[in-house]
Amino acid sequence: MYPNDDPDSPRPEEWDVHETHVNLDVVPTVSCSKCGQEWELAYELDELHAGNRAVEQFALDHHRHTGHFPDDVTPWIASCQHCPAEEQYLSERPAVRFARTHARHTRHTVALDAPESAGSDRIGPQDVSERRERD
Ligand SMILES: [Zn+2]
Ligand SMILES: [Zn+2]
Repeated sequence: MYPNDDPDSPRPEEWDVHETHVNLDVVPTVSCSKCGQEWELAYELDELHAGNRAVEQFALDHHRHTGHFPDDVTPWIASCQHCPAEEQYLSERPAVRFARTHARHTRHTVALDAPESAGSDRIGPQDVSERRERD
């Protein structure tokens, strides 16, 4: 059972991020050393019915409002090599989707930086024209 039945929203098991598992009996907390603050995610759990996604939702909100992610959250970064387009995501799937969509529409090559890898992947026009799936 998922509180949010929107078919377009990713299911929790599709989020491949750190600390996806959240014990719902305990209100999760997130801290940010840049802000010097710590938050309980009761609001996300109660008001947004975010469930296991509370931490991810909070991290995305924090980034939207402050320009950085809280501690222990490392995003995927998709940045275009040819124009200022850059997006950050908490899982691979939307980051790859952004890179592929950008490459398809602009013929630009987009660099994809994974949180756990030092190097960066590249997705260019040649990748999207073949409809090849990455894994
Ligand atoms: Zn912060
Ligand atoms: Zn571009």
